[in-house]
Amino acid sequence: MPRAARRRSSLTRYFVVVSLVATTLLGCALVWVSSSVMRHQAVRLGTVTASSVGSYAVAPLNAEMFRTGILDDSQRAAVTAATSGFKDKLVELRLWSIDGRLMYSTARNTTTGLPDNTRFERMRASGEPDAQIVTDVRRVPGGSALASTEQPVLDVYVPVRAGDTSDPTTSVGVQPKDAIIGAAEVMIDQTVSQQSLADAVRTVTYVVVGGLVLLWLLLFRTVHSTSKRLHNTALENARLALLDSLTGLPNRRLLADRMRRGIQQARDEGTRVGLVLLDIDRFKEINDTLGHDRGDELLELVAERLRHSLRDEDVVARLGGDEFAILLPDVRTIENAARLARRVRDVFGAPFRLGGMELHVETSIGVACLPDHADDASSLMRTADVAMYAAKTHRTGVEVYDADDDHSSPARLILLGDLHRALEQAESGASTELEMHYQPKIDLASGRTVGLEALIRWRHPEHGLLLPSSFIPLAEQSGLIHVVTRFALEESIRQLAAWNGQGSTTPVAVNLSAHDVATDHVVDLIETLLQRYHVPVGQLEVEITETALVSDRSRVIPVLQRLAGMGVRVAIDDFGIGNTSISQLRDLPVDQLKIDRLFIADLRDDTREGSQVVVQAMVDLAHSFGLRVVAEGVEDESTSTILARLGVDEAQGFFYARPAAPTELPVQVRLPGQRVPSGRGRRPAASRPA
Ligand code: C2E
Ligand code: CA
Ligand code: CA
Repeated sequence: MPRAARRRSSLTRYFVVVSLVATTLLGCALVWVSSSVMRHQAVRLGTVTASSVGSYAVAPLNAEMFRTGILDDSQRAAVTAATSGFKDKLVELRLWSIDGRLMYSTARNTTTGLPDNTRFERMRASGEPDAQIVTDVRRVPGGSALASTEQPVLDVYVPVRAGDTSDPTTSVGVQPKDAIIGAAEVMIDQTVSQQSLADAVRTVTYVVVGGLVLLWLLLFRTVHSTSKRLHNTALENARLALLDSLTGLPNRRLLADRMRRGIQQARDEGTRVGLVLLDIDRFKEINDTLGHDRGDELLELVAERLRHSLRDEDVVARLGGDEFAILLPDVRTIENAARLARRVRDVFGAPFRLGGMELHVETSIGVACLPDHADDASSLMRTADVAMYAAKTHRTGVEVYDADDDHSSPARLILLGDLHRALEQAESGASTELEMHYQPKIDLASGRTVGLEALIRWRHPEHGLLLPSSFIPLAEQSGLIHVVTRFALEESIRQLAAWNGQGSTTPVAVNLSAHDVATDHVVDLIETLLQRYHVPVGQLEVEITETALVSDRSRVIPVLQRLAGMGVRVAIDDFGIGNTSISQLRDLPVDQLKIDRLFIADLRDDTREGSQVVVQAMVDLAHSFGLRVVAEGVEDESTSTILARLGVDEAQGFFYARPAAPTELPVQVRLPGQRVPSGRGRRPAASRPA
């Protein structure tokens, strides 16, 4: 029996026992009290009758007779006559003198006999009648010696006072009227009244028992149904505490519990536990634009799709907000977990119907497995979260945990230490593992190099050549990014000076991080470096991502203004993936718009007809604000042709040249006015994508 049910039945049982004992006691007490009240009442009534019989009996006598204790026949006849009215009720009447001599008895002619001394004395002492119900046993007149009758009688000793007699004087003198001079013992037949008393007690008993049984049944029903209701409420509360109120899915607490159990089992059996974390992309926007009700509706629909796409043993939980988790308590391989994650993502392919409109929802999904990526529940949760975050930032949809994405994994901490060391070497002027590579920007109209983008590389002693994606986010997180930027700027400006010395004046664009442009220290640094290396300000460009610009507009704009004031050209990098409209850039001191690779990659894809329209619109609008438009990530000739047709000014990409170290850069690339050996040119091994 479940624990709650047991508790409920024991509560009811407790009630049954206690209430039965209590009602039985109450019933007995009620019956006892009422019957004893009735008995007293009967005795009192009988005593009143006995008292009047007594006063009738002694009325014809005088005090002197009670003193002597002797009555003659006429006196006895007078007594008999005086009490003849009570004949039916009387069993026997006896008169006793004060010293206990029997003066008169209706039953016998003898005057021998003794009163019940105790009662006689009690009556004398109290001056009140002493009544008692006794069983009277009498011989049947004319019957055998053994034949007798038994009947209940009320036997009352009624005090006889001098004033009750016709003459209170005795031979000794006048008695005080209230002096007790004897007793009249009146025995009244109680058969009928005992019978009716018994009947009354029986009736009372029936009524009390019936009433109590009814009352008890009512109470029992109330207690039983209340206990059932309480029990159900308790169950419901327990259920709610573990379920998400919106979607009805298990909540974080229940998931944690299932995880603990799943992990224990996996440890015992040497199996694998998978955790898939899912987050709806741009849910906040959906919520803000469509309203919270629609947002909630979407979450419910998402929950429903998730539930239907999984096996029963997989636990789908809502962690809060737009975050869901799927626990795979027994997954065979990491690949299986990843496949399931991809399948879940495909489930979101079909649009959601929300209030008559169709909404396409994208998700970012992270996958982590125990024991591969974590060794306990909290680290499994953390690693799945890191993977999900990576899926979001790389916009890949599904990512399996990779220590490289994990800024707090031991591997990342070691890498951070290495970066520290590499930067210190660079600062001290020693040869360093960090280097800058350069990628040309081609003017699409003339096919000539009009600029170079400086891209950092790290020649790590163990890991080989590292691309910025594997250490720039780490540097940004740890605050080292300013040192990285200082290195990139100094190295690029130094290189510019060197190229200037060789007669090459192609401008170089350096990437700044969002952290760099939050204050204008970077402007001071640029000023200092340009002066130190005698490089004309017009040869330096900076690139700032659109997301950096919009994340903290109020702090970034003054920095941009100072740079523009100096004559440093500014490009907006990765344009299109944030949410800025070009018109928001109208009043900003920027020179270039670099359209993100994603839009460019779409161009050659014939199925994405809209992409050319989008790029065309960007180009037209940017031109109307006087901005030059640069396309990134051009990988083939057809894209290059399309871009030229769309009016894009400059292009950059593997088709023209890969980023390369200065020594590996073809000479004509650096020299303005030279045509670049397009795409089919030598590709430096160092800049092959990882
Ligand atoms: P980004 O500024 O968008 O740089 C362009 C990236 O696209 C470079 O990746 C480049 O190698 C790559 N690329 C160029 N042409 C093509 C192509 O045709 N196809 C493809 N698929 N990719 C192409 P890289 O060098 O790995 O740099 C990645 C990002 O790291 C850069 O993106 C930039 O945001 C950042 N970064 C690079 N150097 C620095 C630096 O010195 N400082 C800072 N703060 N960030 C940097
Ligand atoms: Ca860039
Ligand atoms: Ca870019």
